[in-house]
Amino acid sequence: MVVRRWRALLATGAVLLLSLTPMARTGVPTPATLDLVGPAAQQRLHLSAAASLRLRSNGFVSMAFVALTIRHTPGSIEAEEALAVQAVNAAYQVFPDLAEVDVALFEAGQYLGFASRAAPPLLTLSVPAQQRPIFAWALRRGTYPRVWPAHAPDLMAPAPIAPLPTRRPIWRGAGTTQAAALTFDDAPHPLYTPLLLDLLRRYGVPATFFVIGQNAEHYPYFVRDMVKAGHQVGNHTYSHALLKTLTAGEVRSELARTSGLLRHLTGQDITAFRPPGGGLNAAVLGAAAAQGLRTVMWSHDAGDYLKADAQSLQKAFAHHLHPGQITLLHDKVDSTLGALPAMIQAAQARGYALRTVDGLLSPEPARRLAGHHPAPAAP
Ligand SMILES: [Zn+2]
Repeated sequence: MVVRRWRALLATGAVLLLSLTPMARTGVPTPATLDLVGPAAQQRLHLSAAASLRLRSNGFVSMAFVALTIRHTPGSIEAEEALAVQAVNAAYQVFPDLAEVDVALFEAGQYLGFASRAAPPLLTLSVPAQQRPIFAWALRRGTYPRVWPAHAPDLMAPAPIAPLPTRRPIWRGAGTTQAAALTFDDAPHPLYTPLLLDLLRRYGVPATFFVIGQNAEHYPYFVRDMVKAGHQVGNHTYSHALLKTLTAGEVRSELARTSGLLRHLTGQDITAFRPPGGGLNAAVLGAAAAQGLRTVMWSHDAGDYLKADAQSLQKAFAHHLHPGQITLLHDKVDSTLGALPAMIQAAQARGYALRTVDGLLSPEPARRLAGHHPAPAAP
C-alpha cells in the first residue's frame, strides 16, 4: 500500500527516485526507497523552508527523515521547533502509513548531507506514530523526550572505570558455543537506526551498536532506544577520528568524551570500543584499556560500506558463519537493511544464538565491569 502511494506521487512529476530492492526467498516483504530532493520536498510538504525528504522501509514498516535548512536567529529555538512540528505533521499527512518521522534543522548553507560532520544540526526531533497526537503539546511544555537540544542538565563527568589488565584486541568469541554477534558501526542515524531497531525487535535479536559520540549527542533518544531494547552500546570515538593520526591527548579525549556521554544517556558503563576504519596501534590499544574499554574488532567484514547488494551480503554472511563470529556492519546502508532478515534467519536456522558482543564474550552476559548508574530522568 505504501509503495502504491509512492508510485502515485511519482506520477505527479515530483523530482524523486524510487528503487525497489527484491528480497528473494526470504519471505520478507520488499523494502522500498524514496528520496524527494530540492524544491520537490518543500512543495510536496508545503513547507516554508528548503527541505529534503528520504523514506525507507525495512520490509515491515516505513520511516521518513526530513532535513530542513533555515536562516537561524541565535537566542531562540521556538521558531525552529514550530517548523519541525510543521514538517512532522506534513510528512504524516502525505504518507499516513509511516511508523516514524524524524526531522533535523540545519543552518542554511552548512548542511552537506547527514554523513557530513561539519555542521551540527540546530534541532532534531523524532516522532514515532504513536506519539503523533501529543508530541507538539509535550514539546511546548518542555516535556517531550525525543528532541535535541532538550532542556536537560549538563553532562555529568564520567565516573572512573577500572583499567583493563590486557590491551589485546578481540577479533572473535571463544567459539565453544553456536553463538555469534552482529555489530553496527557509526550509529545512530535518524533514518536507518529506527528501522534496524524495528527489525532486531521483530526477530528477537540483541546486537551491538558502535556509536559516534557526536551523532549520539544530536540524536540521543536513539541511543536510549538501543539500551531499552536490550542492545549493547559501544564507543566509536566522538568525531569518527582516525586515531592513529592523533596525539595521545586527543585519543584519550575522543574516547573519554564518548564514554562519558554514552553513560550519561544510558546509565551504563561503556566497556566496548571499536576504532574508526579499524585503525589501531599500541598507543590506541593502551588508551582504550586505560579507560576500561575492550577493543572489539571483527572476524567477518560484511563489506556493506563497499556498496555490496543485499543478496551478496547475506550469501557472504552465511558462507563465513562460524562459532564466535563477530560481524562488522554499518547502520546507514540500504543493502544492510535489506540483507538483515535473511542473515538472521540463516543464523537461526543453523542453531546460532545471536548475542551482543558482551554476551558473546562473557559466560555471564551482564556487564561485569559495570556499577549501576541510574539514567537521568528524561527532560
Ligand atoms: Zn565507523
